[in-house]
Amino acid sequence: MKAWVYREHGDVADVLGLDPELKVPELQEGQVLVKVLAAALNPIDTARVKGVIKLPGFSLPAVPGYDLAGVVVKVGREVKELKVGDEVYGFMFHAKKDGTLAEYAAVEESFLALKPKKLRFGEAASLPLVIQTAYGGLERAGLSHGKSLLVLGGAGGVGTLIIQLAKEVFGASRVAATSSTGKLELLKSLGADLAIDYTKVNFEDLPEKFDVVYDTVGEIERAAKAVKPGGSIVTIVKQNKTLPPPAFFFAVTSNRSTLEKLKPFLESGKVKPVIDPKSPFPFSQAIEAFSYLQTRRATGKLVIHPV
Ligand code: NDP
Repeated sequence: MKAWVYREHGDVADVLGLDPELKVPELQEGQVLVKVLAAALNPIDTARVKGVIKLPGFSLPAVPGYDLAGVVVKVGREVKELKVGDEVYGFMFHAKKDGTLAEYAAVEESFLALKPKKLRFGEAASLPLVIQTAYGGLERAGLSHGKSLLVLGGAGGVGTLIIQLAKEVFGASRVAATSSTGKLELLKSLGADLAIDYTKVNFEDLPEKFDVVYDTVGEIERAAKAVKPGGSIVTIVKQNKTLPPPAFFFAVTSNRSTLEKLKPFLESGKVKPVIDPKSPFPFSQAIEAFSYLQTRRATGKLVIHPV
């Protein structure tokens, strides 16, 4: 199969290469083989190519990529629900060496859900990692009906989903979010009641304080000045220090049950994928997609499609 492969760690443009003849991954008993039709990039993909993050069991050469959408072409012996022909999406939580920037991926059945019919493959591939991060962080932070939320980094892959889930799923009474000037209208279109231009306003100096602050940028000290007494701060940006309460770090895990829970919101269009206007990138332009990701200026998600 064709796949993007790195054989040593380093900058993506230096070490990532297209291999036209990589071996199709072998299936373990609880896995299905997915013909990948679309994939999406996340900042962790860059960190893994660079070698900044190494999971247990990782070895080189490796294929990057967590998110995928595609069709099941083969099932392992212990697979219980999925069958050949199912249209699925999800993210490879335990991706060790074989990722989703490839024609085929062997994925645990438990990480995959049936693709909502309303979504095209590219749209579905944009969701799994970020929507589960957004949902899990809001749940752990205790956002519930009638509470207020401030999102730091509202225009990114995770932030665009946090805003929508907070309003549509958790019933937040008020959602504020930060971005640069050109993205404020997007934040409002996603449901933000207050869009804060971080190039002009220090959010922590506003008189309004929030029940929950969701930090996707790494601004935990400033977040502490924007939270109400008794509120909580969730950050998904790893810090090399102990976080002072009420701040805590949340790390996503892959679980089809969150995708299943959110399916009605995706089928009804109440929660929508947000895909950067420069996207999708065809498979052959994965390196261009990575270099755009690394600018940290992408709006919503960068999708690789067709594969
Ligand atoms: P993205 O690359 O999608 O974020 C890009 C966006 O960030 C841009 O639209 C940009 O908007 C915005 N941004 C950058 N700096 C700021 C700032 N100072 N204030 C407000 N917005 C800003 O990243 P993701 O959303 O995919 O991920 C966000 C972070 O979360 C990453 O560090 C990632 O590694 C981490 N993460 C952690 C997970 C976990 O389980 N712990 C899971 C998923 C992600 P603008 O151009 O307007 O600045």
